[in-house]
Formats: sequence, structure tokens, C-alpha cells
Amino acid sequence: MPYRAPLSEFRFLLDQVVGFQQVAETPRFSDATAETVDAVLSEAGKLAETVLAPVNRSGDQHPARLENGVVRTSPGFAEAYGALAAGGWVAVSSSQDHGGMGLPITLSTAINDMFSGACLSLQLNPLLTQGQIEALEHHASDEIKQTYLPKLISGEWSGTMNLTEPQAGSDVGALRAKAVPNGDGSYAISGQKIYITWGDNDFAPNIVHLVLARLPDAAEGTAGISLFVVPKFLPDADGNPGLRNSLSVVSLEHKLGIHGSPTCVMQYDGAKGWMVGAPHKGMSAMFTMMNNARLGVGIQGVGVAEAAYQQALDYALNRHQGRTADPDQPTIIGHADVRRMLATMKAQVHSARAIGLSCAVAIDMATATGSPEWKARAALLTPIAKAYGSDVGVAVASEGVQIHGGMGFIEETGAAQFLRDIRITPIYEGTNGIQAMDLVGRKMADGGDAAFRLIGEIEAGAKAAREALPDLAGDVWSAAESLREATEALLAQGMTDRFAGAVPYLRAFALVLGAHFHLRSAMADPARIKLARIAIKRLLPDANGLMAQMREGADDLFALSAEDLAA
Ligand SMILES: Cc1cc2nc3c(=O)[nH]c(=O)nc-3n(C[C@H](O)[C@H](O)[C@H](O)COP(=O)(O)OP(=O)(O)OC[C@H]3O[C@@H](n4cnc5c(N)ncnc54)[C@H](O)[C@@H]3O)c2cc1C
Repeated sequence: MPYRAPLSEFRFLLDQVVGFQQVAETPRFSDATAETVDAVLSEAGKLAETVLAPVNRSGDQHPARLENGVVRTSPGFAEAYGALAAGGWVAVSSSQDHGGMGLPITLSTAINDMFSGACLSLQLNPLLTQGQIEALEHHASDEIKQTYLPKLISGEWSGTMNLTEPQAGSDVGALRAKAVPNGDGSYAISGQKIYITWGDNDFAPNIVHLVLARLPDAAEGTAGISLFVVPKFLPDADGNPGLRNSLSVVSLEHKLGIHGSPTCVMQYDGAKGWMVGAPHKGMSAMFTMMNNARLGVGIQGVGVAEAAYQQALDYALNRHQGRTADPDQPTIIGHADVRRMLATMKAQVHSARAIGLSCAVAIDMATATGSPEWKARAALLTPIAKAYGSDVGVAVASEGVQIHGGMGFIEETGAAQFLRDIRITPIYEGTNGIQAMDLVGRKMADGGDAAFRLIGEIEAGAKAAREALPDLAGDVWSAAESLREATEALLAQGMTDRFAGAVPYLRAFALVLGAHFHLRSAMADPARIKLARIAIKRLLPDANGLMAQMREGADDLFALSAEDLAA
């Protein structure tokens, strides 16, 4: 089943639901006219459909291999990446100073949605490069910017992100990689990093690693971490790849999914690197990259959910089995339970996509205006977009397998690949548990201001819809009120209790937000009322159960001791 880029959906969401117009009206993004947006999205959609989607199976069936220390990528990946880079798609939102298009992140988010729906394994490569570009733009010296940014932005070189070590996963502060000054402004980086996505490939003439490491005098924990740019080949006087740096790929991980994305164990043996940002401030510099990547990972969930949904719908329209309840539909789509699954999937994709795009709009507005409110909105929405988008990816891909029946479990339909591929997204870029803790901890450090402001907007939207759609608007308004009360209760809890309820709270917040966006869609286009009803009457009621869980705190969880759990 070929992937189809959901262009009209983007157009509708941007114009009617997530408020992209205000981004396009800022002087910073005045180039993002309706014509430009249409042209960019439709060209990206074409690339997704005709170049990336055709190599998706190849990546799954012929995983990247390590041969004599060099990663050999899956058949067709080099050509597909070449087309992606040649089209300028790596750097849609990068600054024009170094050759980027300077367009809003909202557009690159829509593009990432399509590219990951078409081929998640390959899309990871430009996603990480984009994050690295952003980190360098914000924190690197002019010399580093001039050496690396034009090549990364053009897609000639690719970028990676090196945080994880065997003993330092979620607890990044436990990392041990060392950086010793060479006395000439450079550093010697040593240590092992694991799980490094696209740590090497056979199509980019240079690969640029952003590596977290400790200076000799560094404090323990995250306060003692610095960030370094460490290229595979040291740029020569003309900026071209020169001497080989002392770093290598030790092995590739064998994974459940994303087989086409080489996940590398990297060894640094006194590799030459240069510091990005200030000493011991590596985490804040890396956070620029991680925040970008977090939204990107949430959107990967949406993109793969879209692809899994399209395929499941196609199967349901063609598979005959038994007599259906719908006389016009003799295939399994005529069965109520299959219809339930498809309707739920479609409603979830719409919610998660709207949340991701509204997070991107907030990031763009923060960039364009510098307004603290927009910054706080972007910060609040980032963990929700990451966790909900990736959870929806897994849920929809799993339901996609279910709709295929036994054929879903058989590899040849591709339904199983979507589920295997997307399963990583709730884990990497900070597990969804860590995202939820970020939401109830750091993102509530303002006393809940940003959350209450957003809840206020949801309530105002529901009030405005009350006359036209009283039933649906009433439910959204009540859910927003319950969320307000739950947020007040959360703020009164101690941190351990908050953390115990963090995941249910984040999911409840996402359901209320999703219902809010569905209501807006229904108000803008009566044809969308039917889908909004699914979201509001079938998905939203779960929010109450989730908020009840959040109120339980941690006592009952810890009352069940480790011994009880083992009994
Ligand atoms: C395919 C793949 C690609 C990856 N790509 C990269 C990459 O490019 N660069 C990179 O640096 N890393 C990468 N990672 C690493 C990834 O980000 C980590 O796996 C992830 O952050 C989790 O760390 P961990 O695996 O050590 O799990 P752990 O930290 O051991 O977590 C195990 C479980 O404990 C929970 N947990 C841990 N700490 C806490 C806490 N304080 N409170 C509550 N719960 C907690 C977690 O949520 C999780 O459920 C990749 C991983 C994979 C599998």
C-alpha cells in the first residue's frame, strides 16, 4: 500500500486549528506565505511518496551492516538521502546565514511527519542533523559555525548526538567520557558511547558528532558536563575532510525495529574535538538539540501512525469476512468493531498532529517575538507532544496490526514493521516517563501559570462553541474544568506523589487538548463534526480515569514492596 502524504490535513490544521497565520504574520517569518507553504509541503510530500516510502521495506529487510569499521547502509538509502539533501530538506528551518531556508519549525514539523511516515529509519538521519545545526547555531563559536554549519545545512555532512553510556541512560549526569585540553584550544575526547543513531554511514563524506564529556576539573553530575564537536575526519585548511580522527564504530545494535538506522557503539580514543558553549554548560547547550529532537520524535509517532492507518484502512476496504452490519460495505470495514478501530485511529492521529503542530507554532512564536508566554507555552507542550505523539504511534500501529488479523502478524504486509519501528519512540529522547516527570516538575515550576493559561484557552474555545455544538462543547468544557482541578491538586502534591501520577496526568492533558483541537476543527468545518464526536465521546472520557489515578499519589505504589512484586 503506497504512502500518501496528508497534504490537505496539514493545510487545514495550519489554517484553521493551530493558528499558523500568526507565525506567518511576524516579520521573522514573513517569507512563509500561503504559496510558499503550499509549494514546500507539496514538494516534500512528493519526495516522501516517491523517494522515501519506496526504500522503507528495504531498510527493514536489509539492515545496515558494519564492514571493516564502516557502516554499509541499506540498499537505496544513499540515493534516497542524496535526493533529500539535494532538495534542501535537511535545513528547512535553519538560519539563512549559513544556507538554510529560514522557514518556521512548524513547516519542518509537517515535513518530518511525512518523511517519518514514509521511512522512519532514514528520516532519523536528517532529524539528528537538524538538532545539531540548531545547537551549533545557538552555542558554537563563529569559527565552528563557519566550518560545520554550511556542510550540515546542505546535507553534505551528517550530525549525531552522543549522550548515552552504559551506566548513563536517563541519568545523563552519570556519564564518564573525558575531555582533556590539548593546549591548542582543542580537546582529547575519550570514552564509549552507546546507542548512537546514524553514528556512521557510507554516503556522507564526514560525520559530525556532538559529544557530552567531562573536563578534568568537572563537578559530579550534570553540572560538570561540557559539549564538544568531534568530526569523523578533521576539516583541513579548506574545510574539507582531512585526517581521520581517533574514533570508531565498535558494533551495531540488533534491534526490534528501525533496522535501516544504524545504532552504533562508538569508541573515542583521544579524538580531537572543540568545545561548544561554555565549560560545564554542556547540558544546557545539548538541551537545544534535545528539545528540537523531542518534538521531532513525537511527530515521528504521528507520521508512522498516519502510514499505519492508511494501510489498515486499505486492508479493511478489501478484506471480505462474514456478513457485515453495513449493507453498503461488504468488506470488514462494515463490521462495527473494525469501524471502531479505524475511527479511533483517525481521531488519535488528528489529536496528536494538532498537538505537535501547536507546539511548533509556540516555538516559532517564541523565536519571532521573544515573548516569555510563548516560550512557556512551547516548554509546556514539548513533553506532551513527545509522549502523546509517540504513544499514539504505538497504539495506532498496534491497532493497524489488529485490523489485518493474522496477516498483521505476518511480515509481508508491512503492518508489523510500523509497530516494530515505532516502538522505540516512547523510549529514546527521554523516555515518556521522564517526559511526564518534566511536565509535572520543571514545567510546573511557574506555579502552573502556563498550564492554567492553556486550560483557560480550552475553556474559552468550548464556550465559543457552545451555541453551535452544545453537546460536544459541554464535554470539552467539563473536561477542561476537571483538568484545572487536577492541576491544582497536582501542585499541592509532593514531588514523589507528582511523579507517581505524572504519566496519567500527561495523558489526560493530551486527551483534553486533543478534544479541544477536534472541537476547533468541527467549528471550522462541519464535515469534521463526526470525527470530533469520536474524539470527544470515545477518547476524552478516559481523561477522568487518568486524573483519578494521578490523585492517588505514590503511597499505594510503594505499599506494594519489591518483595510483594516478586511474590
Ligand atoms: C534505537 C535507539 C537509538 C538511540 N539513539 C540515541 C542517540 O542517538 N544518542 C544518544 O545519546 N542516545 C540514544 N539512545 C539512548 C536512549 O536515549 C536511551 O535508551 C534512553 O534515554 C533511556 O536510557 P536507558 O536505555 O539507559 O534506560 P534507563 O535509563 O535504564 O531506564 C529504564 C527504565 O527506568 C525508567 N527510569 C529511569 N530513570 C528514572 C527516573 N529517574 N524516574 C523514573 N523512571 C526512571 C525509564 O523511564 C525506563 O522505563 C538510543 C536508544 C535506542 C534504543
